[in-house]
Amino acid sequence: MQQRSGYVGIIGRPNVGKSTLLNHLLGQKISITSRKPQTTRHRILGVKTVDDIQFIYVDTPGLHSHGGHALNRYMNRAALQALHDVDVIVFLVDARRWHEQDDWVLKQLRHLTVPIILAINKIDKLSDRSHLLPYLAAAAARYSFFKIIPISAKNGDQLLELEKAVSDCLPQQPHLFPADQLTDRSDRFIAAETVREKLTRLLGEELPYALTVTIDAFEDEPSIVRIAAVIWVEKSSQKPIVIGEGGERLKRVGQTARVDLEKYFDKKVFLKLWVKVKSGWSDDEKSLRQLGYGDCDLYPAHQQS
Ligand code: GDP
Ligand code: MG
Repeated sequence: MQQRSGYVGIIGRPNVGKSTLLNHLLGQKISITSRKPQTTRHRILGVKTVDDIQFIYVDTPGLHSHGGHALNRYMNRAALQALHDVDVIVFLVDARRWHEQDDWVLKQLRHLTVPIILAINKIDKLSDRSHLLPYLAAAAARYSFFKIIPISAKNGDQLLELEKAVSDCLPQQPHLFPADQLTDRSDRFIAAETVREKLTRLLGEELPYALTVTIDAFEDEPSIVRIAAVIWVEKSSQKPIVIGEGGERLKRVGQTARVDLEKYFDKKVFLKLWVKVKSGWSDDEKSLRQLGYGDCDLYPAHQQS
């Protein structure tokens, strides 16, 4: 049989479940998730090869109409650039309500010629599924979607149907990645993002907007991975928030991140964390680049190979 392979853009406003969907489709966690909007800051590829079909999913930061801050502009740019070379788009919305922001996102997609599959997510949250019928009818009137599929990214409901629809849209061409490759992102990136996820979840409302994580040292030894990570905040007053009383919070961040990383790397992990201050980085293009928010080159791993 002919091989099929292609890029699948996962698009939607913040918090609709894009990263949760990617992780569930891959069966492995590569993209961090949380209740907070703007958790995903980078474009990230997830590769899934099933026999002759290779899905190259592109998770993106949530699109939002208000630009503003340099970091926000970076995230919008990363999301919109990711659309240019995809073969099909999965447009994610929330089953409980169609938002104005969804209309704004759809407007960004309208001029594209690739098929758009509408995935109506979080159906597990609906108390009465008959509410879906008018929702489906209204959605169909908005745009001629290739398919409309209600799903639960969290429980996995209807994800097989979604993948079937996606695979119908993939072009016949040889696979672009080795069958055992899971992502284009480095182990260092996964480590930094895992620490950021734990901070995002544990700090809740107290989370400094501009917090970011870099990796100082990464040594992959036969039986252990040794990682030193730096947590960057913008003001020294934010340091104690991250560290917590008696260092409790930072300790908890380290412990929970280590558990996830040991699963990902499938070996023991030694994780050391520091908190440092670098003022004004989130609105300064140069600092953004230094901290890894560089040009959002589309598919770097692909180009290098
Ligand atoms: P993103 O910003 O679009 O990437 O959204 P995330 O994947 O980070 O998810 C945002 C929040 O929605 C998280 O708390 C997820 O656990 C939750 N979530 C995602 N998909 C579902 C779903 O199908 N059902 C339920 N109940 N929650 C979901
Ligand atoms: Mg996300």
